[in-house]
Amino acid sequence: MARYTGPSCKLCRREGKKLFLKGDRCLTDKCAVDRRSTVPGQHGAGRKVTKEYGMQLREKQTARRYYGVQEKQFANYYVMADKKEGVAGENLLTILECRLDNIVYRMGLASSRKEARQLVRHAHFTLNGKKVDIPSIICKPGDVIAVKDKSKASEKFKALAEQMETAVIPKWIEADVQNLSAKVAVLPKREDVDFPFEEQLIIELYSK
Ligand code: SF4
Repeated sequence: MARYTGPSCKLCRREGKKLFLKGDRCLTDKCAVDRRSTVPGQHGAGRKVTKEYGMQLREKQTARRYYGVQEKQFANYYVMADKKEGVAGENLLTILECRLDNIVYRMGLASSRKEARQLVRHAHFTLNGKKVDIPSIICKPGDVIAVKDKSKASEKFKALAEQMETAVIPKWIEADVQNLSAKVAVLPKREDVDFPFEEQLIIELYSK
């Protein structure tokens, strides 16, 4: 399935939650969820999810849209999470957090995951010293993500460096603001994910 290219705010309104897909705008009073919280469409105001399957589906869509992952890839992440030791739901969130585009976003170098994905696609980063342009790479502890030397000199990255200085970077990422780089110190835990997912609902959906 092709990547969704429609309005981001519509996705938030569909889930009835702020998914923070548009960077700084999400923190202003222009946020569409704050202004109009009904589901998009003619009968949106009357649409309420009460059935078990509906709730599981909505939770999966919320997580998928929050991280900007396509359907098939998300299903693959479930398979990976289920095979790992531990709680499958928590494993799934750990995998999603460790995506390269999410780490670039968490480093404070992009105002949204969408922007982070674009920066990675445009090959502005290295992973362990090697050029990388695949946003879906799953990083592991010890991996070092850095802005390429050539990109560091650009005006865009000079501005992003200032953004990184003031960013709240999670403790599982060791940031080096001077060098515009970061190391994955440890795998993120459930409490490091700051969105109130009910990941168990997603696992129930896939384990049917
Ligand atoms: Fe979602 Fe941000 Fe749009 Fe609000 S402004 S609806 S949080 S994408």
